[in-house]
Amino acid sequence: KPKAIIIGAGIAGIASAIRLSVKGYDVDVFEANSKPGGKLGEIKMNGFRFDAGPSLFTMPQYVDELFKLAGKNPEDYFKYTKLKEICRYFYEDGLRLNATADLDKFARDIEEKTHSTAAEVQRYLKKSDTIYEVTHRVFLERSLHKLKSYLHWDTLKSILRFGQIDAFRTQAKANRSFFKDERTAQLFNRYATYNGSDPYQAPATLNVIPHFEYHFGAFIPKDGMYGIVNALVKLAEELGIRFHYSQKVEEILYSSVGKPKIEGVKVNDKTHKADIVISNLDIWFTYKNLLKGITEPKKLLTQERSSSALIFYWGMDSNYSDLGLHNIFFAEDYQKEFNAIWKDKTVSSDPTVYINISAKYIRADAPANAENWFVMINVPANSGQNWDHLIKEARANIIKKISRILNRNIEKDIVCEQILDPRSIEGKTGSYQGALYGNSSNNQFSAFLRHANFSSKVKNLYFCGGSVHPGGGIPLALLSAKIIDDDISSVVQ
Ligand code: FAD
Repeated sequence: KPKAIIIGAGIAGIASAIRLSVKGYDVDVFEANSKPGGKLGEIKMNGFRFDAGPSLFTMPQYVDELFKLAGKNPEDYFKYTKLKEICRYFYEDGLRLNATADLDKFARDIEEKTHSTAAEVQRYLKKSDTIYEVTHRVFLERSLHKLKSYLHWDTLKSILRFGQIDAFRTQAKANRSFFKDERTAQLFNRYATYNGSDPYQAPATLNVIPHFEYHFGAFIPKDGMYGIVNALVKLAEELGIRFHYSQKVEEILYSSVGKPKIEGVKVNDKTHKADIVISNLDIWFTYKNLLKGITEPKKLLTQERSSSALIFYWGMDSNYSDLGLHNIFFAEDYQKEFNAIWKDKTVSSDPTVYINISAKYIRADAPANAENWFVMINVPANSGQNWDHLIKEARANIIKKISRILNRNIEKDIVCEQILDPRSIEGKTGSYQGALYGNSSNNQFSAFLRHANFSSKVKNLYFCGGSVHPGGGIPLALLSAKIIDDDISSVVQ
């Protein structure tokens, strides 16, 4: 059997391992941490369970597909529920909006409570559908770096429709033209943060993101987000894939006679041979630490990083009926918040606060009459800021803001706490500067400035995960594994 080695057991690494195993490879996965999942991790503390990273699950079909590929019934491994209520939005002026899966209801809620109309919402969502239709095959599902991608008739058709993807104005500008009420525009501007970008700089093409939530739906895995990792690792182990935890890869080995060709990896000074190597770690660290003697693609590696996050995991000794699974408490001045992040590289004094409470659905995630709060704000990637000071300030500002809007002192309910910041995100998951999604998408060319899923310098070396094409977030990380899979089939046959 040909042999494949995967470096990193992040979601894309696990997906790549399953795909190659199904293809007939003998697969080993080396993971630096003692557990799989990478950013998709889990924290347990004082009877509370928290998903450490991602909390919003979209495009579950990409996970199901992996079980089907292996000839299994996804439901035997992995169950999830479609959310009827997607997110509760809270504004400083007292406005509360509910984004529901029933789009007519959502549009009516906006019409009743703001100066925007239901028709504006419908027009906007239609535009979002169109952008998806035009972009998904070209920018998401295929390599942007292979000629054969451009030879498909549907790719060519999409390219002819590029005028419709709204690439030449910013998302914030476009949304101000869609909605009379600034607060509605703010709600949809927020989607730029789903890939760590700034709606005041990023192209309006990012208005494709709501399509994932409102068209395909938002979901919650029955066993929490970490349930995705557990289910996929179970499948992988059944397929015979070997996971080696706490085994940090030190070097990618290749032959330097003629055109460089992959030979294997070095772990703890020991050589492990392989026909194919797929690196799931941040492309920046892949070049800096693992690929000796290979010239770095400087332009790609020096792109602006996506934003990072500051997260407080709070065990709360109470129930909050005002809150749902996903909750957003908006900044009063959204542009000021993004200027703080992107221009001043600091944390706004009035940040938008996201609170996820998985215990609303998964009772076992918190003790009785208690809730597990994942409280997150967007912050810049780490460039040496005084994080200890910023965290102290942000914590106080967040507590004041939530207490003010809910009209209730939340601080007295916090019974235990852990904190994750850009420094620890880099330390725990190997993401350069703690960026959540690799590079930002703050300009029209970002999609073209992500690294390809293959190496043009070393034969049979591939790259998957959120820092390479097609980008960050679970669905796109899973697609990176699929794109590699498509490429390898043609290499091996
Ligand atoms: P990563 O998770 O980056 O994992 C890489 C793995 O490689 C790690 O396990 C690391 O330990 C390992 N590694 C590194 N170096 C080595 C080495 N030398 N040898 C061996 N192993 C190594 N996405 C969503 O879809 N929805 C969300 O709601 C969402 N929210 C997020 C919130 C937070 C706080 C964070 C951090 C991320 C969020 N994301 C979200 C993004 C999502 O988590 C990532 O895009 C995705 O999990 C990235 O997966 P990956 O395959 O790139 O691997």
